[in-house]
Amino acid sequence: MRILQPYFDGLTQGKLLLPHCRSCGKVHFYPRHACPHCWGEAYDWKPAKGTARVVTHTRVLANPPSAFEHLLPFDIAIVALDEGVSMLTNVVDSASLAVGDELKLDFVQRDGKTLPVFKTAR
Ligand SMILES: [Zn+2]
Repeated sequence: MRILQPYFDGLTQGKLLLPHCRSCGKVHFYPRHACPHCWGEAYDWKPAKGTARVVTHTRVLANPPSAFEHLLPFDIAIVALDEGVSMLTNVVDSASLAVGDELKLDFVQRDGKTLPVFKTAR
């Protein structure tokens, strides 16, 4: 958890911080203990621009994990952030989401935590 603390601290401040490896300079997501490119373990945490595009998506209509039942129906998507990394996320305002749609970062409060979500940029 300690290595991920900057990520969670950023969310509470309304920022999606991405780990930029100090050894190879590459960015990755999801945050993890070691850089998947070079195994470096030191990062600079820089805010994402907050723009992304839909890579793939689906609408969940039934039988989600119980913690998500109150959100039905909801859209989940894999999005490509402008920084070149992918992220599994919730798109919160999509009536007709399509591959390639531009999205903007937003945040929601769920169970006392600030979580990153996306909205359509239309
Ligand atoms: Zn690296």
